[in-house]
Amino acid sequence: MDSRFVEPILITRPLLPSVEKMTSRMEEIWDSKWITNNGVQHQRLVIELKNRLGAEHITLFNNGTLALLLGLKSLDLTGEVITTPFTFPATVAAIDWNGLTPVFCDVEPDTLTIDASKIEALITEKTSAILAVHVYGNPCNVEKIQEIADRYRLKVIYDGAHAFGATIGDRPIGSYGDMTMFSFHATKLFNTIEGGALLVKDRMLAKKLVQLKNFGISGPEEVSMSGLNAKLNEVQAAMGLEVLKLVDEEREKRAEVKRMYDQYLAGIPGIRILTTLDKKCSSYQYYVIEINRDQFGASRDDVYERLKRNNIFTRKYFNPLCSEFDWYSHLDSAKRENLPQAHLAVTQVLALPYYGELGLDSVKRICHVLKQSCRQAPGVDQYHLKGEYK
Ligand SMILES: *Cc1c(COP(=O)(O)O)cnc(C)c1O
Repeated sequence: MDSRFVEPILITRPLLPSVEKMTSRMEEIWDSKWITNNGVQHQRLVIELKNRLGAEHITLFNNGTLALLLGLKSLDLTGEVITTPFTFPATVAAIDWNGLTPVFCDVEPDTLTIDASKIEALITEKTSAILAVHVYGNPCNVEKIQEIADRYRLKVIYDGAHAFGATIGDRPIGSYGDMTMFSFHATKLFNTIEGGALLVKDRMLAKKLVQLKNFGISGPEEVSMSGLNAKLNEVQAAMGLEVLKLVDEEREKRAEVKRMYDQYLAGIPGIRILTTLDKKCSSYQYYVIEINRDQFGASRDDVYERLKRNNIFTRKYFNPLCSEFDWYSHLDSAKRENLPQAHLAVTQVLALPYYGELGLDSVKRICHVLKQSCRQAPGVDQYHLKGEYK
């Protein structure tokens, strides 16, 4: 079997509506001459997303990073914010840009989300909030986090950039904590090219967020806080309205791709599938595996390189850990010995190509290349191969 792809296989493909659909939206926008500042498309998207995400209040932003940054700002936090090192740099940068100090907490080995049992030991009199991440759409231990937050009167913010449409049981994931951020970046399941949102329960907070993303302006001649410009424009909103129509079908296709991967990768020693949530709960954002070198016989980096040589591009989300950034090296919580699980995970995780259009043949070839690493490894001459995909 020749597994090398002629065309590169990338980690994802953006969900794109037809050009015709977008053109007709553009005509609407051009006719209206209203191209940003809460225009008609924006208003429609707010309603659609509210319904879909089960939100009481939703504020849209021009990207997820600014949503998070201004979300933290709106809560008037002080001092320290307990967070995870196992995330995209934007999570911790949002803390930093608010003049707050991140305090890194280790992660749970199973979901790679913040380890709630280790939060309490990190709380000081300076702690004002917990910022947790639903990594790969796997929900954090929301109950435990809330219990701690209530006990110490801390705010809870979730970075739900990977968790669009995910639920915990029947409850929408965005309904936990004080606020949840979603990213609508092109690489995310639902995209507005660039974009993001904050879900909040409090009406006054929602109002404040609208002001914060518009320079802090609160009236015709009134500026009541130090805001930024982080508004979602009409073209972004139009894109969102069209992409939203495609999301359900894309989720179904991804469920099928996941099923294929699951079957091909099941039973291989040293491979653990991290995105194992059931259909109802999953966000289908990524398909991530963990490779245990001793059991598999080759390291994650070996597999990464081999796949790359075959024109298959995977990602080591989230390498490097945020705690490894130079500018946090003075923090006690950033020390390696305080974050053993995160440091282990970051050497083992690999996000495989994952999108609805990735067909059976591609999945087969990707898994074939992956298994070659295993076969070649010294001491591992036998590996369990599940029967052909049915
Ligand atoms: C994508 C992402 C962000 C940033 O969102 P943008 O919309 O790209 O600014 C933040 N956190 C996580 C975990 C992400 O994956």
